[in-house]
Amino acid sequence: MLEVSNVSVAYGQHRALTEASLNVGDGEIVVILGANGAGKTSLMKAIAGITPCLPGKSVRLSGCDLSSLPAHEIVEAGLASVPEGRGIFGELTVAENLLLGANPKRARDGEAARRKQVLSLFPRLGERLTQTVRTMSGGEQQMVAIGRALMSNPDILLLDEPSLGLSPLMVRELFASLRQVREAGVGLLLVEQNAQESLALADRGYLIENGKIVGSGTASALKSDPAVRRAYLGGL
Ligand code: ATP
Repeated sequence: MLEVSNVSVAYGQHRALTEASLNVGDGEIVVILGANGAGKTSLMKAIAGITPCLPGKSVRLSGCDLSSLPAHEIVEAGLASVPEGRGIFGELTVAENLLLGANPKRARDGEAARRKQVLSLFPRLGERLTQTVRTMSGGEQQMVAIGRALMSNPDILLLDEPSLGLSPLMVRELFASLRQVREAGVGLLLVEQNAQESLALADRGYLIENGKIVGSGTASALKSDPAVRRAYLGGL
């Protein structure tokens, strides 16, 4: 269980996030919805230990306090992330990217089995192990990024806009893979602008506006909430 509370982020005078709190249960899929600039990426980076926070932040994973750990130790503790823009090494091959993902100490035992799991989740990667990642399609690169993060043997995976730039078909394929990731016991926290598809995938969601969490609920409650429908589902 990931428990995040009181996360505030400022960039100079600009307050991007104010006292955000959320949690993700074991094997749960939770989505954060919000408009451009609402503070979603800042929240994800703050949880992952990449962005400095104002005092008061608490991040706990299965009872362990990660609040003041550097990013690489947060990965060691079981919290992996796929940043916006994917964070993969374009000049390296698929196989090399996956190998780099297995670098954390927690991932060294069982690396071969995990690699097999990742390749069964994304068979296309298995067919292209020697391809340079830069030459792959957007959807394939997203698979590499998720595969690389899964190689670190996480308990929770943070995904920042995994559907960005992908075709509707590719989004459906990707989200089907994310369901399988959850079935393997990994909890998922994702930021999305694609509210329709992500609420179909998620168990629960949070709404973020102007740096504040302004609502939360089960995915089905959010889907039928008139304000959510107006703001995120095209009023349908
Ligand atoms: P998007 O959906 O457009 O990616 P977001 O919800 O992820 O947006 P953030 O990227 O967290 O939002 O940005 C929140 C606010 O903080 C925005 O106003 C943004 O311009 C600002 N911001 C983000 N990063 C920085 C930075 N490094 N320096 C200054 N301001 C920043």
